[in-house]
Amino acid sequence: MRVLLLNPPGRELYVRDYFCSKTTKSNYHFHPVDLLALSGTLSLDHHVTVLDCIAEGLGPERARARIDVEGPDVVLSLVGSVSWEEDREFLRQQAGLGRRVFAIGDVLHENAEQRLAEEPWLEAILDDFTTADALHLLSGEEDEVLRATWRRADGSFVHRNEPRRGREHRLPRPRHELFPSRGYRFSFARRTPFATVLTDYGCPWPCTFCVISTLGHSTRPVEDVLEEVDGLCRRGTRELFVADQTFGVQRDRALELCAAFRERDLSWTAFTRPDLADDELLGAMRAAGCHTLIMGVESADDAVLDSCRKGYATDAARSAFERAHSHGLRTVGTFVVGLPDETEGSLERTLDFALELELDFMSINVAVPRFGTPFRRDVIAAGLVKHDELVMDQSGATVALPTKALTRAEVARFKRRMVRRFYLRPRWLWRRMRDVSGPREFIAQAREGFALLSRNA
Ligand code: SF4
Repeated sequence: MRVLLLNPPGRELYVRDYFCSKTTKSNYHFHPVDLLALSGTLSLDHHVTVLDCIAEGLGPERARARIDVEGPDVVLSLVGSVSWEEDREFLRQQAGLGRRVFAIGDVLHENAEQRLAEEPWLEAILDDFTTADALHLLSGEEDEVLRATWRRADGSFVHRNEPRRGREHRLPRPRHELFPSRGYRFSFARRTPFATVLTDYGCPWPCTFCVISTLGHSTRPVEDVLEEVDGLCRRGTRELFVADQTFGVQRDRALELCAAFRERDLSWTAFTRPDLADDELLGAMRAAGCHTLIMGVESADDAVLDSCRKGYATDAARSAFERAHSHGLRTVGTFVVGLPDETEGSLERTLDFALELELDFMSINVAVPRFGTPFRRDVIAAGLVKHDELVMDQSGATVALPTKALTRAEVARFKRRMVRRFYLRPRWLWRRMRDVSGPREFIAQAREGFALLSRNA
């Protein structure tokens, strides 16, 4: 069959992948990891093409024309709660042309049978992009499907959610070469081109607001990852965004990956947790070419961290950022604002904490009731959001939730103030100017900076 992997067009620069969706917070747009993983799997049996309308800047009309040229039998599309109304309209039209439509995304991560009942154009919902479920659905081997929901020819639905067995999964090599060579941007990349690589899936920690905590956790064998990385090196790509949500879950494996990366002259960015970031791991990452480390701070308030089941306190974040700086790593602290107990005072303390940590970059997410999370159940029970509100955006372009003390508008206003206060410090701007490696990085960062500030004016 001819299978098209699609990131559909959108009115905004949407980032849809890994059961999250948002408007880009500045100007970045990296390769969607779901479609990367599926590109390898589906290429085993089918003719696969990729159309990323966001990367290519295609509006609906040009996207339709491009799809018509490809003439796919099946469209497997990303969808997002940030763009749900646009996505369903576009895909409904594709189904109207006789194409089978499969989809994956945050808005379908909960109540999948209800979503299928509401959307007759949609044949199947995938709930894990590391399985061969799409292949099995296309070949009619329904018994083999692990985590998906689909519509049978007789109109009945099947929902399958087999528990993840084992700590490892294998993926055929993701087909990076099928993705556009231009249109992806990543503000932390220090070389071009860059590629997005996922060496594991999910996360074993239980943070209540995070959809990744609902996925379980498994890793790819190191040799599979290196086969993918070596393919990228042969194509001239040595800059990686390692999109694992927590690098270093399995210490020995992380050190093995670092040793292998070190031999390959790579430079890369990764996420980890403050309580994993000890000198051994940070030293190995830095020696292996990691230049930028992203860690969750979330809040300056230990009670807030506790209520979200983060599993570490602010002291752990403080010392982890100090260690990262001592190893020569650039640091990005991520924060979540607008949790139910948040007050203006707690947000002020979080801003002060962000300034105290001497971060190189600050990334603010606005709390959203992500589908499938305990946080969503709690805020629905508290009456802060309705269960049928499907549209949300963690970038803060719109705010999904009031707190007990602050309105949505107040949360949005404070978030914009935090961004301006952090990024418009002369001392910070001077540090950034000194840190850039050349004109290309200067221009990329200036673009990102202007885009970020214009979104937070
Ligand atoms: S550690 Fe990070 S990725 Fe893992 S569940 Fe918590 S917030 Fe999510």
